Amino acid sequence: TTFEDVEFFESTKATVAKCGYKRPTPVQKYAVPIILAGRDLMACAQTGSGKTAAFLLPAITKLIKEEAPGGKPGRDPVPTRCLIISSNEGAYPADRLRRARSHSRYGVSSVVAYGGTAVGYQLRQLEGGCNILVGTPGRLLDFLNRGKVQLDKISILILDEADRMLDMGFEPEIRKIVSNYGLPETGKRQTLMFSATFPEEIQRIANEFLHNYLFLTV
Ligand code: AMP
Repeated sequence: TTFEDVEFFESTKATVAKCGYKRPTPVQKYAVPIILAGRDLMACAQTGSGKTAAFLLPAITKLIKEEAPGGKPGRDPVPTRCLIISSNEGAYPADRLRRARSHSRYGVSSVVAYGGTAVGYQLRQLEGGCNILVGTPGRLLDFLNRGKVQLDKISILILDEADRMLDMGFEPEIRKIVSNYGLPETGKRQTLMFSATFPEEIQRIANEFLHNYLFLTV
């Protein structure tokens, strides 16, 4: 299998080339077509498996396909279409990938909001809106409470490193983000969950947050 077999947009292919990826990793090979088909997905994949690109590349392709993500600068606010909730470390690879993406032809904008760093810069970035928002649970809740982020236009919700976030005690924050801020309900959005392990707590959350989902383990 090569990336040529996958129905990516030209611009997304440019990102793949820019990142220097030659062949999809197993999780990419199986997850990408499922995500492009619009199905909900629970994937068990370790960090290092290439899971970040496995969800980010098809998510970007879908956003481009669904609508021109731009909005007119200074007029229409850029709608946030994809929310990625991640533990701290997970935000970085996602950011690297979107940076590579932002150099290619169609602009899908993204902002990374994570704890432990100055709030000001992240807030300024958020002012212009963003198509993809990547964040840690605590910092996301902070921005939601300040009214800086709107979740009603989200079409794709991604929980990355779900087991890690639960181990870190973030379940209450995640539940609030998903339930209390106008995010479209289960079944009215596409939801993807990635986790290295699949213990009972993760199964419970998958059954709650995902709709008619496919299960993938690599
Ligand atoms: P992740 O599992 O998302 O943390 O990714 C682990 C590392 O693998 C990252 O440094 C990626 O840039 C890299 N990577 C992801 N997909 C590929 C690929 N298809 N070929 C080579 N490297 C990749």
